[in-house]
Amino acid sequence: MGKEKTKCLIIGSGPAGYTAAVYAARAGLKPILYQGDQPGGQLTITTEVENYPGYPEGITGPQMMTDFMNQAKRFGTDIRFGYVNKVDFSGPPHTVYVDNGDVIEADSIIISTGASAKWLGLESEQRLNSKGVSACAVCDGFFFRGMDVAVVGAGDTAAEEASYLAKLCKKVYMIVRRDEMRASLIMQKRVQSLENIEILWNTSTEEVLGKDEVEGARLVNNVTGEKSEIAIQGFFVAIGHKPNTDIFKDYLDLDSSGYIITEKGSTRTNVEGVFASGDAQDNIYRQAVTAAGSGCMAALDAERYLAEKELAVG
Ligand code: NDP
Repeated sequence: MGKEKTKCLIIGSGPAGYTAAVYAARAGLKPILYQGDQPGGQLTITTEVENYPGYPEGITGPQMMTDFMNQAKRFGTDIRFGYVNKVDFSGPPHTVYVDNGDVIEADSIIISTGASAKWLGLESEQRLNSKGVSACAVCDGFFFRGMDVAVVGAGDTAAEEASYLAKLCKKVYMIVRRDEMRASLIMQKRVQSLENIEILWNTSTEEVLGKDEVEGARLVNNVTGEKSEIAIQGFFVAIGHKPNTDIFKDYLDLDSSGYIITEKGSTRTNVEGVFASGDAQDNIYRQAVTAAGSGCMAALDAERYLAEKELAVG
């Protein structure tokens, strides 16, 4: 297929990408948006979103992302399935390659590729992945109804996953590597108030046990060095995320964790015509609402850039 041209290409379909699309489409830029390999992004694997302003009763993550998508569609965004696997940012214009064979030449690009779950890096964790090891309680919790499971991590994600699993499972161990949790106070209180959650402080996982499926975990106390084993059928890893920015590393300035560096107070990257928004460039706030806000900023920055270049409509 030959090269297709567009004024504005958006990569990613979380709150940042769809918000950028709403703004870019309303500005007449006729944006094309590629959804990536997880349409809707990380919120599609969350349960309730209770802290997005405008939803006093809360809303489920998947419903929220469907609403975001429909709003972007309503103003004419060309939303497409497809995973961008290569870029050439030696322009502008810049070229983007999609796994379905599409090649797009874009005057401006908005990156909103988000972040993905991190793993502990144990051989046993990898071997038993999808055989009891999971990074998504909402996706897989159902399979462990009435069973014993563990959640690794002590942030809001881990606390949320543990309270979700506590509703389905008999017992939930929370494996916390320090003597305190990083999660917000309200989430800490929630997990501590649930009787079937047991928090194992100062504890790390040495190995996930089991041949063909998870049967337990071997743990070590980080203070005493004492080892122990727990019998579990599900092992949920909730230790944070890594930005999805590998394909940009030859062109864009990234920090030591891989987050795209943008100019202060803007979404401009070091490459002309390329803007970054959402979790791909934010290692501090990482909220749906802040991602949406930076998606809006990226679309406004792209629109101004195109206007200065006299590439915008009108
Ligand atoms: P965080 O980075 O906040 O927390 C990661 C947790 O995993 C930390 O407790 C960390 O321990 C632990 N950890 C990291 N590496 C390892 C390891 N190798 N072994 C054991 N434990 C490890 O990530 P989250 O995904 O929890 O949250 C990300 C952001 O999203 C936060 O800003 C959070 O507030 C937000 N969020 C908000 C929600 C809400 O408001 N409803 C829901 C979910 C997330 P340590 O503390 O020792 O570093």
